[in-house]
Amino acid sequence: MSVVARDLLRRTVWIGIYLLFILAPMLAMLAGTLPPSRGFWTEFSVALGYSGLAMMGLQFGLTARFRHVTDPFGEDVIYHFHRRISLIAVGLVVVHPVILFATGSDKLAMPASLTEVPLGAIAAFVSIGCLVLLVVTALWRTKLRISYELWHAGHIALALIAVGGGLMHMVGWGFYLADPWKRALWICMAIFWLCLLFYVRLFKPLFMLRRPYRIAEVRAERGDTTTVVMVPEGHAGFRFRPGQFGWLTLWGSPFKITGHPFSFSSSAEAADGWVAMSIRNLGDFTRTVQRVEVGRRIYLDGPYGAFTIGNPADMHVLIAGGIGITPMMSMIRTLADRGDKRPLVLLYGSKDWESITFREELEALESRLDLRVVHVLSQPPADWQGERGRLDASLLMRHLPPGYADHEYFICGPNPMMDAIEAALGELEVPISKYHSERYSFV
Ligand SMILES: Cc1cc2nc3c(=O)[nH]c(=O)nc-3n(C[C@H](O)[C@H](O)[C@H](O)COP(=O)(O)OP(=O)(O)OC[C@H]3O[C@@H](n4cnc5c(N)ncnc54)[C@H](O)[C@@H]3O)c2cc1C
Repeated sequence: MSVVARDLLRRTVWIGIYLLFILAPMLAMLAGTLPPSRGFWTEFSVALGYSGLAMMGLQFGLTARFRHVTDPFGEDVIYHFHRRISLIAVGLVVVHPVILFATGSDKLAMPASLTEVPLGAIAAFVSIGCLVLLVVTALWRTKLRISYELWHAGHIALALIAVGGGLMHMVGWGFYLADPWKRALWICMAIFWLCLLFYVRLFKPLFMLRRPYRIAEVRAERGDTTTVVMVPEGHAGFRFRPGQFGWLTLWGSPFKITGHPFSFSSSAEAADGWVAMSIRNLGDFTRTVQRVEVGRRIYLDGPYGAFTIGNPADMHVLIAGGIGITPMMSMIRTLADRGDKRPLVLLYGSKDWESITFREELEALESRLDLRVVHVLSQPPADWQGERGRLDASLLMRHLPPGYADHEYFICGPNPMMDAIEAALGELEVPISKYHSERYSFV
């Protein structure tokens, strides 16, 4: 079976499992002992609430970084799905009381005093409040000036309260839970969601704690970038495919929610399990990397991602903007180590000549491989004869041999560049299966 067919099969299986988990509670509602019907709209709104809650619970699984789940899709696609599906799930949950309200259901009638408000209703209120907060803080985190770390911790807490409140609301009403097996189904689902959370927040950090790394070298690179070389301490490390990434915890224990994602920039053929990451100074955490000391113990969780070299028969077109060069560098270094002479074109956008990360090494690699590097500068010097401006369709047509749909494309860089290149590939009728994107802003 080809890699494409195998990936398609794996994706189909995971989508099937996902749908099963979402639909199971609703199907269970219709089986066994049924309570007397309360009219179409009431039952319909309850079904929406049940599905919304099941979707919310499964969000813990989408972000649990299970390699088997993320590999066939790519981690960025999973995170994108997590974001989009949570809007639908919250929508379903919120529509549930809205329908009851619109149809004048007696379930929403106000009791004589606040002390008589049923616990199930309070739980629903708290749950919906948390869901709304979750959405607002996720969509407008940067506008609200909430730091990533604070937001991440709050995100998990709000999600736990929202799902817990939803479950309490359901149990409090208990309308469809007359049969013990239905109660058992929901208890199992809730335990399963909790296990997913424990897996990523407890089990994984424990595993990382037992497999630490040590900083072996810290190297300044062009373009305000620092390369850190890490060696496994007391274990063999892991094998990765060029283009993949890991979560790096540089300061403190892996139990802290401070892991940051970075592509491996070293060759996948490097001996003794050592790996390197090249990190551009772009914010709070990345600013601290240049002062990390050699010998420091750090933690790595990986490898992840589906952004990796494909069919050796195809010309590989690597399109990098800025620090998006790192996964490409790993691909090129790996091919050099393997003596793989497949044709490669690297279209590499940088600000100016001096800030081109890995410039000299790329020049050297051009003579070892069938590699052509095209630099594109957004702020070129006055005497610059090469490409300037942005990476776009006309640039691709100037530098690639025709038969665009036969090449294999790898794109990594700032979002506007990636959008432009993906649109350009669409114009050149390159099928989606022939290009691979890695977005650095998926979180
Ligand atoms: C798959 C992947 C591979 C990457 N590879 C590289 C690489 O090789 N080299 C490189 O320089 N950069 C890489 N990045 C980008 C890098 O992860 C961010 O630049 C870095 O996390 C920013 O952190 P900061 O605190 O310095 O910046 P901040 O200014 O605090 O944050 C900038 C943005 O980075 C994101 N971010 C911040 N903290 C985290 C965190 N703990 N986890 C996840 N995202 C966070 C948030 O979206 C935030 O808005 C990669 C990103 C991804 C998703």
